[in-house]
Amino acid sequence: MLKKLAKYFRKNHLPVVSSEPHIVPSGDHPISARQITSGAKKVVEQLVSDGYEAYLVGGCVRDLLLGMHPKDYDVATDATPEQVSNLFRRARIIGRRFQIVHVRMGPEIIEVTTFRAQHSSEHNGKDQSRRSSKGMLLRDNIFGSIAEDACRRDFTMNALYYHPQDNSVFDYANGLRDIKQRLIRVIGNAEERYREDPVRMLRAVRFAAKLGFSIEEDSARPIHKQGHLLADIPPARLFDELLKLLMNGHALATFHLLREFGLLRFLFPATDEALSNDPGYYLPFLEQAMTNTDKRIRANKRVTPAFLLGALLWPAVQEARKKLERDNTSPIYTLQQAAGDVIHRACQRIAIPRRFSMPMREIWELQLRLPRRACTQAQRLVENPRFRAGYDFLLLREDAGELESGLGDWWTRYQDADEHKRHEMASNLDQPREQRSRRRRRPRKPASSNQTT
Ligand code: ATP
Ligand code: MG
Repeated sequence: MLKKLAKYFRKNHLPVVSSEPHIVPSGDHPISARQITSGAKKVVEQLVSDGYEAYLVGGCVRDLLLGMHPKDYDVATDATPEQVSNLFRRARIIGRRFQIVHVRMGPEIIEVTTFRAQHSSEHNGKDQSRRSSKGMLLRDNIFGSIAEDACRRDFTMNALYYHPQDNSVFDYANGLRDIKQRLIRVIGNAEERYREDPVRMLRAVRFAAKLGFSIEEDSARPIHKQGHLLADIPPARLFDELLKLLMNGHALATFHLLREFGLLRFLFPATDEALSNDPGYYLPFLEQAMTNTDKRIRANKRVTPAFLLGALLWPAVQEARKKLERDNTSPIYTLQQAAGDVIHRACQRIAIPRRFSMPMREIWELQLRLPRRACTQAQRLVENPRFRAGYDFLLLREDAGELESGLGDWWTRYQDADEHKRHEMASNLDQPREQRSRRRRRPRKPASSNQTT
């Protein structure tokens, strides 16, 4: 697929960053204008016909070059956000830190950004540009030329511009070569660029997992040292990034990379600590959770962030329960206390909306209620709106070896049974059978350690 590009690169030795683009003409790259959605094409055409410059840019160009389906289309233009929004009937300027225009075209939303320029010290403090004392860009609305815009983008592979009208690709930062070499390379000084926007470290990891690319050495090294900068990111933005990281069908690879680069501890410190204390116990569980999520996404099945976050925070909840259990309180009370504490602390970093944190708690609480099935309890549980998620969570714990198998199977059979059979199954239980934790049976664990009751 990239043969044409390979030929092109053999002929041309491209510099890393250039003020003049290397233009790859139609036919020398694998993109065809037919692949572009009509909405994206219309937005570019309208801007051009009104005398502005406009290109497709970023992930859509990168993905098309790789023969993948773009998730969305981004357009870059020299028109200001106001000019763009005046041009389209269904357009809305969003964002303050980084203004973009959402243009609605039928079912599509095209993101239109104005070419950004370098910030100089004279800009700082002005309405369009602000930097924190640590160098983080708090506002990035200084507009410039397309060449300047290319320098402001995060990675070379994301600084490619495509002109649908003549089907040419404009490469300012050697992105084509890096795509061919399957490398993620920060444009400019990586340390500085991560300081400007620490989310770029998460983006590097996300693309590495999604595309199966490596992070180039100079771009990878600072990530190990600069993870702490994520603390300066607003929790609501981190939540959005987290969903992009884990709900894209590559959660397992992403999870491994987050650990490898030491970023997990800045996102979920309590989970990371639990993992370091007892990897043999929590790692299979989390890997299984990520694998299941990936499988569901690839099979186009629904995935709720409540389940995924519930799994990610479960090791933290388990550790918190262990500490609280010493107080001799009831198991459900202990779990509620632990859950409240873990969610409260997690939300200080990542703003988990209540619409997800509430079901997350219910899924956890169901882990204590699912073993209690005698008489009418089973029927009541199966009618609980959160039952399915709680049951899936139980299967996950069993699959990961956290629990002995058995209870999950009982519930599978119960759901398949008719009313008569269900009655029989629930009546045949002499008393609520507590499912034993495998962990409890490990000799090195204290006999009082109790995971499920
Ligand atoms: P995908 O849409 O597949 O997740 P993408 O690369 O298109 O990947 P977007 O978030 O849609 O990612 O961003 C579009 C483009 O905007 C990027 O390709 C990149 O050029 C630029 N960009 C996005 N976020 C940043 C950032 N934090 N710093 C610099 N440039 C960025
Ligand atoms: Mg995109």
